[in-house]
Amino acid sequence: MEKYRGLSPAQFFHRNKEIAGFSNPARALYQTVRELVENSLDATETHGLLPDISVEISLDSNNPDRVTVKVADNGIGIPIHEVPNVFGRVFYGSKYVVRQTRGVFGLGVKMAVLYAQMTTAQPIYVKSAPINSDFIGEYLLYIDIDKNIPHVLKMRIRKKENPKLHGTVVKLTLEGSWVQAKKRIEEYIRRTALIAPYATIRYKTPEEELVFKRVSKKLPEPPQVGRYHPKGVDVEVLKEIIKTVRDPDTTLMDFLVKSFDGVGEKTAQDFLHWAGFDPSIKVKELRLHDLEALASKMKSFNKWRRPRPTTLSPIGEELLKEGVKNILRPSFVKAVTRPPSSYSGHPFIVEVAVAYGGEIPPQDQPIVLRFANKMPLLYDEGVDVSRKVVDEIDWSVYKVKFPAPLAVITHLCSTKIPFKGVGKEAIADVPEVEHELEIAIREASRRLRAYITRMERLHEIQRKEAI
Ligand code: ADP
Ligand code: MG
Repeated sequence: MEKYRGLSPAQFFHRNKEIAGFSNPARALYQTVRELVENSLDATETHGLLPDISVEISLDSNNPDRVTVKVADNGIGIPIHEVPNVFGRVFYGSKYVVRQTRGVFGLGVKMAVLYAQMTTAQPIYVKSAPINSDFIGEYLLYIDIDKNIPHVLKMRIRKKENPKLHGTVVKLTLEGSWVQAKKRIEEYIRRTALIAPYATIRYKTPEEELVFKRVSKKLPEPPQVGRYHPKGVDVEVLKEIIKTVRDPDTTLMDFLVKSFDGVGEKTAQDFLHWAGFDPSIKVKELRLHDLEALASKMKSFNKWRRPRPTTLSPIGEELLKEGVKNILRPSFVKAVTRPPSSYSGHPFIVEVAVAYGGEIPPQDQPIVLRFANKMPLLYDEGVDVSRKVVDEIDWSVYKVKFPAPLAVITHLCSTKIPFKGVGKEAIADVPEVEHELEIAIREASRRLRAYITRMERLHEIQRKEAI
């Protein structure tokens, strides 16, 4: 006889940790650092705070496979009563809104907690000093995997000595392979410093201490919380948005104008006329089959305005150039930030830098450094859209002869990055994104060609003078 039962979200990810990037002790350690650092960056720059982040990795003296990771930040902190759920419940977070952040699933740190508790049986330590609060909360907790709820072992609340202080400290101990993960983690930190040149990151390991000091105090404009674009909805999203409508008399016309991004009265009228809907029908009275028709019409209408990019936070040409110069130390760099674009109702912006010469090591093909929403992507390069676009370019057009000291840095910002998995390592080849990437890389590369031509002439002159 078969026995039937359900699985809690925590149980599901406990069994399938590979899909979130926790596939072995080396990868799990890398992913843990990444999840904590990305939460810290979200908690600072998204809220207009210049990030000061410290990452510390230490090994148990009796068992070097037990690794402790501690990350501290000067972010907004977490309301003390929210700490247990935020760290102890899979699918809980503050980032389920239309806004560019690194985190999106409400999953990352819980994967780290799950991995830590299943490999070392240690709880996670969290200290939160929320901004605009007089208190500090400290917790030791783990996840009740069966129920997908936090289990708090210890908790302490005290008054802040300095009421202006705010931020979060997270510490956990997991089974990890430091020897195998070390190079990747250092590379991850270096690339994070490249894409966030306004952050100061202290990085301490058993062997060394590195400080990536900010090279700029200019923060990119923080992203704003926006609304759904009509092209990006389906029946379930429609139901969810309708639930939030308070006034029972709201008409379909009002609903479209008030609840969606970039829909004015005129556009709404044109759409409703085109789709054959009565503008005065009450939105709360729409039945499931009406919603299905509405969603499908909303998707196929091609006269919506583009989604507004205020929900995005690209770093801009100037900062990108600063970051590349500081970390790669090339002799040439050109950065390009493209105008906003969109795919399936999701706004996106592509930024690219092409760097050449200097300390970039010559390679047989261009080095590609990929970023998505300011997160470095280190794995699965072979299946990423950026690699594909770079490989399809005939670099001889730009006078590059391999082996060449050439690096292409790509950054995609979007409220919905088309990742190939929840481990967030590779971006799918969405045609709109591919197109923007190609335009940006070609634009930057034309400047590279001019630079190489100049250098060739200079050499020519020097050669002649030498004769
Ligand atoms: P996600 O980052 O995808 O939302 P996580 O599980 O990594 O999911 O984090 C859950 C939530 O915990 C976040 O949405 C955020 O509200 C909060 N959080 C985690 N780390 C921090 C931090 N260092 N500072 C402030 N808030 C944090
Ligand atoms: Mg996160």
